[in-house]
Amino acid sequence: MTDNATINADGFFGEYGGQYVPEQLLPILNELAETYEKFRKDPEFIREFQYYLAKYSGRPTPLYLCSNLTEELGGAKIYLKREDLNHLGAHKVNNTIGQILLAKRMGKKKIIAETGAGQHGVATAATCALMGMKCTIVMGEVDMERQKLNVFRMRMMGADVVAAKSGQKTLKEAVDEALAAWIGDAENTFYLLGSAVGPHPYPMMVRDFQSVISKEAKQQCLEDEGRLPDYCIACVGGGSNAIGMFAEFIADESVKLIGVEPSGRGLEPGDHAATLCLGEPGVMHGFNSYMLKDEKGEPAPVYSISAGLDYPSVGPEHSHLKDLGRAEYVHASDKEATDAFFKLSQTEGIIPALESSHALAYALKLAPQLDKDKIIIVNLSGRGDKDVAQIEDMISNGELTLP
Ligand SMILES: *Cc1c(COP(=O)(O)O)cnc(C)c1O
Repeated sequence: MTDNATINADGFFGEYGGQYVPEQLLPILNELAETYEKFRKDPEFIREFQYYLAKYSGRPTPLYLCSNLTEELGGAKIYLKREDLNHLGAHKVNNTIGQILLAKRMGKKKIIAETGAGQHGVATAATCALMGMKCTIVMGEVDMERQKLNVFRMRMMGADVVAAKSGQKTLKEAVDEALAAWIGDAENTFYLLGSAVGPHPYPMMVRDFQSVISKEAKQQCLEDEGRLPDYCIACVGGGSNAIGMFAEFIADESVKLIGVEPSGRGLEPGDHAATLCLGEPGVMHGFNSYMLKDEKGEPAPVYSISAGLDYPSVGPEHSHLKDLGRAEYVHASDKEATDAFFKLSQTEGIIPALESSHALAYALKLAPQLDKDKIIIVNLSGRGDKDVAQIEDMISNGELTLP
């Protein structure tokens, strides 16, 4: 696993991170942190993790040179790290495999997770089926209605999908109810977080499991090009695919790291989820990081065309990298993302997830400004099959036109 240079013993990346949680959760988190510390360098744990990544998820994923797109844009070479080719179609399974292997070592029998759009729930349900764990997924009642097919997928794989019925009946309520269920039965239950967020040790743990992305990409780029890339670009929701894409390159100062947030319909409050670009530091969901606040300092309403990116906070390590100036955070709009979605589909025959399309949108702007000998790697975090119906609806409503 990654050696941790930036996190201190209390679980802070600079001033970000920490454990801002109710008293009852502290011993549970500390037990988790201690167990993880013990296993993260254990050869048998690492071997088993790598076994499932290879045999179950199909890793290593290719580093693919987009020759057509590169030629059309006339500048830097654009490579894609094909996380869309993982089992279940996204990077999320890298993390669910790692955390469930850890849960088994802790003697836990049950996994609980929350999900918004359902992608993390599906990855969790699949990995629980694989590893013989009882699985409960908490999902806002409104989200369950919006994501019926994902609810059915989870149930097919044996998960119990529970509706969160309080408040707005979406992700925030699902988090609250899943946490309550965890505190109620922490003896037997493992809480599986889906992004590089939450209290310590989750951001570090998720970063380590996702860092397989940059470990592979670095080696593949050295093999194909004989040198490191000039840019690594990834979309940022909670920040797990981005930190996975950055981790192994942080010490390589020549590699520019760029995170792309969703600016949605525009930069007014409520129209975007560009947390690092437009937010300020604050505490929510148990950790300190940049966040988008309303007038009362509460988490602000957020919006993006892609359900995987609309979160009003962000992984704490990204806040630290931003303040250090080591990574740069920019934004792409719904329109830029859908343009990129069509562009990749039509030039390379690869339909990207709408989330990943944000990273790609920035690369489309950057590449033509750079010399032909420059190298850009875009993390293609997921495949777009899940988004095709939404795009089709938008086309039939006249909100979009097929280019
Ligand atoms: C969930 C998801 C994301 C956003 O989550 P991160 O933790 O920011 O990576 C991005 N892309 C895809 C395909 C996803 O499923």
